[in-house]
Amino acid sequence: MADDNRVIVFYDERMLAHEPDIEVPFLPGRMDKRIRSLLSGLGVPWKYPEHPARLTAIRHLLELEPVPGVSFEAGRAANREELGRVHTSSYLERIFALRGQSAWLDVDTTAVSPGSVDAAEVAAGTAIAATEAVVAGRAASSFALVRPPGHHAEPVRARGFCLFNNVAVAAAHARLVLGCQRVMIVDWDAHHGNGTQDIFWTDPDVLFFDLHRAAPFYPGSGSLEEIGTGLGDGTNVNVPLPVGAGDAAYLKAFREILVPAADWFRPDLILVSSGFDPHCHDLALEVSYDGFAAMTGILKALAHRHCQGRLVFVLEGGYNLISLSRGVRAVLQVLAGDEPPEPGQRGLDEVAAAVAFHREAFIEPPSE
Ligand SMILES: [Zn+2]
Repeated sequence: MADDNRVIVFYDERMLAHEPDIEVPFLPGRMDKRIRSLLSGLGVPWKYPEHPARLTAIRHLLELEPVPGVSFEAGRAANREELGRVHTSSYLERIFALRGQSAWLDVDTTAVSPGSVDAAEVAAGTAIAATEAVVAGRAASSFALVRPPGHHAEPVRARGFCLFNNVAVAAAHARLVLGCQRVMIVDWDAHHGNGTQDIFWTDPDVLFFDLHRAAPFYPGSGSLEEIGTGLGDGTNVNVPLPVGAGDAAYLKAFREILVPAADWFRPDLILVSSGFDPHCHDLALEVSYDGFAAMTGILKALAHRHCQGRLVFVLEGGYNLISLSRGVRAVLQVLAGDEPPEPGQRGLDEVAAAVAFHREAFIEPPSE
């Protein structure tokens, strides 16, 4: 087993070339009117939210405030065979044909710029590289800082800012090439990972566990009853949450559903679709930095118990640059050995000291 606290962060500047511009004409043409009317209905100037500064903000924070024990490596591009394990060849043909172009692929805000297809290949390949490093024992855990994100991408469709399903490509690679038997994917992004669910819907060797804000929140799937089918019956676990849910709900679901599910499944690799949009700054849910840290602590314990510590994080969403970068850093601190705090406990020691300090102050009635 690698040193328990050795962490490698994978990052590659080629992913910055994915830069959709909402001013370019939409393709196909019939989408144009619909998207324009959706955007004008928002009543505010609209920018493509999944932009390159998401990655540079994280990188910048980790340079300003490095986490001891964390090293950096470059990623690589996924090839056609690797992508073809989770996407159909006709879908890949259509995406590859867009190389060098600007286009809209879906009404739910999925677009490409001239560098996007290359960036998406690097995102998927970087998730693979992060997985290989952990399975080879070069690090106990790794974090693939990637974009475009992946968990909404279906076998035949780009959706929700996603082109290729990065975490699914990594899981398929682990199973088919790296000798892993059972892979558990934990998705804590605020949105349901519809694409990942779709890809492994009938697969008994991939356990998919997803916490998300419930429908009708985007993408609208992820109900309790969606549990997989055929041989995969029971290996798809959804926990839909209401608006306002935060650390306590996430941790209860982790402790009372995820932990027993993992103990039953006995994964030999754990992948995390790690979005930071459940943070309260992103307005969908109310998870705190301590909440992300505590969840990381539970995942680390599970990985230790079942799979020699093998734990790979793959970035998904998170659009507020401060909570995105601070959230990533909170996860890395725990991976690198910090003890995660129990959420909601900060300041209680100081208050206890203040209680002791002021205890005698208000016993006598105020003098006249
Ligand atoms: Zn999301």
